[in-house]
Amino acid sequence: MNVLVLIDLTPSYQAAKSAAHLLAAASRLGRPIAVVVTPPGRGDDVAPRLGALGAEEVFLAECPEAGTTPVLPQVAALHKAITAVSPIAVLVSSSIDGRDVAGRLAVRVGGAGNYEVVDVRLQDDRVVATSSVFGGAYTVDSVIDAGLPILTIQQGQAIEQGAPAASGRVIHCEISIDGPAAVAEDLAEAPLVEGRIDLKGAAKVVSGGRGLGSKESFALVESLADTLSAAVGASRAAVDAGYVPQTYQVGQTGTTVSPQLYVALGISGAIQHRAGMQTAKTIVAINKDADAPIFEIADFGIVGDVFTVVPQLIDEIEARKK
Ligand code: FAD
Repeated sequence: MNVLVLIDLTPSYQAAKSAAHLLAAASRLGRPIAVVVTPPGRGDDVAPRLGALGAEEVFLAECPEAGTTPVLPQVAALHKAITAVSPIAVLVSSSIDGRDVAGRLAVRVGGAGNYEVVDVRLQDDRVVATSSVFGGAYTVDSVIDAGLPILTIQQGQAIEQGAPAASGRVIHCEISIDGPAAVAEDLAEAPLVEGRIDLKGAAKVVSGGRGLGSKESFALVESLADTLSAAVGASRAAVDAGYVPQTYQVGQTGTTVSPQLYVALGISGAIQHRAGMQTAKTIVAINKDADAPIFEIADFGIVGDVFTVVPQLIDEIEARKK
């Protein structure tokens, strides 16, 4: 049974980090088939490598609109691949573009979208998707009864094992973009702070909240993140107070993370924050208020002042590295 995977690309047309995760999810359901859209002449940069990540076949659509016309080329390529291989499901990443693609594709092929999926499995030949809903308060298993399941997959720890390497045979396909399309004239990714690990898909995240008190003091969060080789996150209150840019925000209206380790420093644990991090495998919280809601979901908690506890933690971790 075939499963289509839309591969996200970096601005230099390499497979994005999410590709391995999506192909791993697809391999749980059937034969992963990658779908890649690039401008003409750029497909060879990415397609041959996808076999190593588990793609049995790679549908490669090279078209002039790729990179300037948002999402329509991807929808057209997936539509063509669906007609060719009759998949049991289509997986796309849970990004802004991915969600847009999923909705448009569902309308076009009469499929059904299931968003923010954290895990997938096959049960009695049906695709079962696990999602975290109502701000993370419930975990739901659902099966789509009407039409092709089109799932947006969140990167996270639920799907840990990669797909076995496969042949990655490249199949070239031609697509045409129908109807009026928006054109992006100036497309730029928000730059990563130099030397910082990308929050999206990070294995370890250290986040700071309003409890850090100031932009200068937020350096403590970065020090612990450096010690642990972790990405840096923040609560919305820390972002609103100007300690860090919005790209750091974890939560309902920020980035959703699902790392192996999440360390929350001076964060109360509001439902909107928890929605973006509570599927982390191990949660460590440091907060001076013993009643802070973050302790309800923490695996390890320290009631204490971050400015007293964190420097000791850093010293101890550094000492153990020697
Ligand atoms: P606070 O709630 O003020 O908590 C600060 C914590 O720090 C307290 O628990 C305090 O005990 C502790 N503290 C203080 N000093 C110290 C110290 N020295 N040492 C140790 N602990 C200390 N929030 C998000 O994070 N992400 C979102 O995506 C998000 N989206 C939202 C969307 C909507 C529609 C709404 C209404 C809200 C959203 N929020 C979001 C905001 C959310 O409701 C909370 O206001 C926010 O998460 C609080 O951030 P905080 O925990 O840093 O601050």
